[in-house]
Amino acid sequence: MFSARGDGGKSSSDLPSSTCDVAIVGAGPYGLAAAVHLRAAGLDTRVFGEPMSFWEGMPKGMLLRSAWDACNICFSSGELTLDRYQAASGARFGRPVPLEAFVSYARWFQRSAVPDVDQRRVMSITQNGGGYRLVLEDAETIGAARVVVAAGIGCFPWRPREFEDLPQKLATHSSEHRDLSRFAGSNVLVVGGGQSALESAALMHESGAEVAVIARAPRIIWLHGGAVQRKLGKATPLLYAQTDVGPAGISRLVANPGLFCRLPRSTQSRLAHRAIRPAGAMWLVPRLADVPISTGRRVIRAVPAGEMVDVLLDDGSARRVDHVVLGTGYRVDIARYDFLSPELLGGVRRVDGYPLLGRGFESSMAGLHFLGAPAAWSFGPIMRFVSGSWFAAQALAEAVGKSPASLQS
Ligand SMILES: Cc1cc2nc3c(=O)[nH]c(=O)nc-3n(C[C@H](O)[C@H](O)[C@H](O)COP(=O)(O)OP(=O)(O)OC[C@H]3O[C@@H](n4cnc5c(N)ncnc54)[C@H](O)[C@@H]3O)c2cc1C
Repeated sequence: MFSARGDGGKSSSDLPSSTCDVAIVGAGPYGLAAAVHLRAAGLDTRVFGEPMSFWEGMPKGMLLRSAWDACNICFSSGELTLDRYQAASGARFGRPVPLEAFVSYARWFQRSAVPDVDQRRVMSITQNGGGYRLVLEDAETIGAARVVVAAGIGCFPWRPREFEDLPQKLATHSSEHRDLSRFAGSNVLVVGGGQSALESAALMHESGAEVAVIARAPRIIWLHGGAVQRKLGKATPLLYAQTDVGPAGISRLVANPGLFCRLPRSTQSRLAHRAIRPAGAMWLVPRLADVPISTGRRVIRAVPAGEMVDVLLDDGSARRVDHVVLGTGYRVDIARYDFLSPELLGGVRRVDGYPLLGRGFESSMAGLHFLGAPAAWSFGPIMRFVSGSWFAAQALAEAVGKSPASLQS
């Protein structure tokens, strides 16, 4: 078991009340998967955070874009799968997987595999000799030889500059809405052409809002994956990996992060862009049949007009609406993880907000690891999806388990 070192000169209140080999920040799919693998590798591992809290905030009625098998958390274990959950719980749900069913599945996974998640938030992480010191929301201090940041994208919503001057009452990011029926009877403009934007538009339209969509792309890309795979039949696995990220062929390449990260950077960037460009699931098409979608249009300005918003487009036209919903996605910037101390952050080599990660998803700060979307620059686009959790968790446990630094005594 790790024991905190380098405490000379610290008062007793600074000393950790307990220590562990690995502290995981976040109990979403990546944090849970990491805990399973690290514990299997014999490491004393603690997990902090409210299980699945990010998913609890997603819109009611949402369906997952990922295919059934790609919703399995660390699916290489083969045990705690969505199929097993359905069989064990008797829950009945179909495909696409409804949000509520996925959250119930993930909670079942957590109760079965990591029942002792500590629900407290981690407020700060600092270096502590050869390891790290974590301060929890009730001020308790924990020491850990390693820290795995699996804190998700909850603090990375992207709000374009054009909307900066609009108050919350008039413009919100899609991530802020659990219940989109609050817009019933309102006139809403959705900005964006990806799944979040399009599904938010469908849910608001179905709740009785008057909705329109504006997207920059010249056309909306609809994902035909399921239909193509049905046509391919037994040949499907040659072109599509179970991870369900990216189109035919590219899907297989990005499903192998060990290979992906050895490709030239320019190839990685091209593949990543192609794999995750904004697109909507095919099943949204009929649901949006009565929603006007303007493509190839940019918003150049958005200003309050009394209780409403005036939105000016690049073709010179203008729209007056009650509210703008920004389905503009997320941009990773680990500087927004407010629990990382400035000294720690300063020691992490970064590119465009992403940490540069090496073997075992370790950053340039020894013993500090990042999983999930922040790992996408180093290990590719599947890190943005649940289906990448098996690779990340396994690679982390393999690297840490073999490293003598992992088990201090
Ligand atoms: C609308 C929407 C739809 C999506 N649909 C899909 C889909 O169909 N398929 C798919 O694979 N992916 C989908 N995603 C992406 C999805 O968010 C990620 O795949 C997934 O959440 C990654 O898991 P994670 O564990 O990295 O992060 P999260 O699930 O976000 O988990 C991180 C956890 O860390 C916790 N945390 C943060 N800070 C702290 C702290 N200081 N202390 C303690 N805990 C902390 C958070 O509360 C959170 O619970 C979707 C995303 C959105 C926004």
